[in-house]
Amino acid sequence: MEDVEKVKAEALQLMGVFQVIPKLVVFDLDHTLWPFYCECRSKSDPPYLFPQVKGIMHALKHKRVDLAIASKSPTPDIATTYLNKLNITSMFVAQEIFYNWGNKKDHFQNIQSKTSVPYNSMLFFDDDDKNIQGVSELGVTSILVTNGVNLGAFKEGLTRFSQNWNSPKNKNKPGK
Ligand SMILES: [Mg+2]
Repeated sequence: MEDVEKVKAEALQLMGVFQVIPKLVVFDLDHTLWPFYCECRSKSDPPYLFPQVKGIMHALKHKRVDLAIASKSPTPDIATTYLNKLNITSMFVAQEIFYNWGNKKDHFQNIQSKTSVPYNSMLFFDDDDKNIQGVSELGVTSILVTNGVNLGAFKEGLTRFSQNWNSPKNKNKPGK
C-alpha cells in the first residue's frame, strides 16, 4: 500500500488546480476499487484495494465531495462484506450493488434520487466500456480505468469533468 497521506496530498493538489470539481464521485467495485471479481472469491478471503484508492477517497472527503458505489456484482453479500472489512462502508452516501443486464443507468437513477445531485455534477469510474457509454448518455462524466482508480485516472477525470462543465452543451449549469 502506497503511503495514504502522500497520495491524499497529491490528489488535493490536483483538485486545487480546477475551478469546478464534482459534487459526487461514483465508483464501480471489481477492477476499479479492487483488483479482483468478488464472485471468484469467498467472504473469508482478505480484501484489498488498488494502492492509491484510499488516498484519493480521503482527499475527496476532505474537499466535502460525496462518494457512492455503482456495482453490478452478482454477489452483493461478498461486496458489502469486503467494504465492511476494509472499513470504508461509511464513506459512501449511496451503495447501489445489484446485477442486471443494463449498463448501470438504473444504478445511477437510484443514486440520483437518493442524493439529489444532478448527473452533470457527478464523476464516474468503471473498467467496463459498456457502463461508461451508458452512464455518459445520462450526462455523467465517465472515465474508463484500465488499472484501477489511481492518480492518473483521477487527473483525467477532473480534467474531463471540467471540460464537460464548460462545454456549451452543458445547459444545466447553475446560472445558465
Ligand atoms: Mg468492474
